[in-house]
Amino acid sequence: MFCYLLYITDGESSIYRTQMSKQERENRSRLKRYISYKEFIRGTLSIRERVCGKPNCKCQRGEKHVSLFLTRSKGGRIEQLYIPREKEQLVRRLVKNYRDVRDLLEKISSINWEKLKSKPFSDAFSGMQRDSISSANSSLR
Ligand SMILES: [Zn+2]
Repeated sequence: MFCYLLYITDGESSIYRTQMSKQERENRSRLKRYISYKEFIRGTLSIRERVCGKPNCKCQRGEKHVSLFLTRSKGGRIEQLYIPREKEQLVRRLVKNYRDVRDLLEKISSINWEKLKSKPFSDAFSGMQRDSISSANSSLR
């Protein structure tokens, strides 16, 4: 009987994980929660004030119309989206979630920078290399 075993790894063996600092594990766990269960969006919220042009409107007396926009740069251009008032809280949360994800990635990256600076490359990521080697062998079997 032929049995085919598919070995799937996410590059995070339990051996490697125990070599991580508590801080590192927490950062990764938090990041995982964001990726798995939360929505996020990259952009900046900004308030725009405008005058509409109707002759007797309150905006002509200084009480300008206020609108909220979400903007992002994409491919060298600025994209903007009008956000209705009832969507404001939701969008604010999504924007904050994106920043949290970005901050967590930056923290993890910084730890890796320190590892690379403080040790020879082979020592800094030795656990991960073992993991990569063992999972590569597993997939060959
Ligand atoms: Zn007006």
